[in-house]
Amino acid sequence: MKPPEDCPFCQIEAQRSKSRILYEDDQVLAFEDIRPQAPLHVLIIPKKHIATLLDVAEEDVSLMGRLVLVANRIAREKRVDRAGFRIVINCNRNGGQTVGHLHLHLLAGRGMGWPPG
Ligand code: AMP
Ligand code: ZN
Repeated sequence: MKPPEDCPFCQIEAQRSKSRILYEDDQVLAFEDIRPQAPLHVLIIPKKHIATLLDVAEEDVSLMGRLVLVANRIAREKRVDRAGFRIVINCNRNGGQTVGHLHLHLLAGRGMGWPPG
């Protein structure tokens, strides 16, 4: 599937948008959130354009696992693993999704509230 030209995360992936990239491999990209909600706020995305969590297909199962492994890797590298962190995937309007390209939020560096806002 050809990614939408106006997808901001596909543009980051295509290097058309400046972003602080923390990790990259052939399938996954991780970069700092432009409006951080915690001292560490990293977005981890599949390079493949998947619009929402609901669009994850059987063929994406191992890709989803890779996203988690990259989150763990960054958490360890940034030394927030022992104190802890939060992974969030927002889906559609009530989930608070504002960018239509699947992404994991890795949030760390402060205590997280519950229930989430
Ligand atoms: P969500 O609301 O779950 O869709 O999260 C989208 C996130 O993407 C928000 O935290 C935004 O601050 C972040 N964001 C939007 N555009 C960019 C960008 N160009 N570079 C980095 N982060 C971005
Ligand atoms: Zn995209």
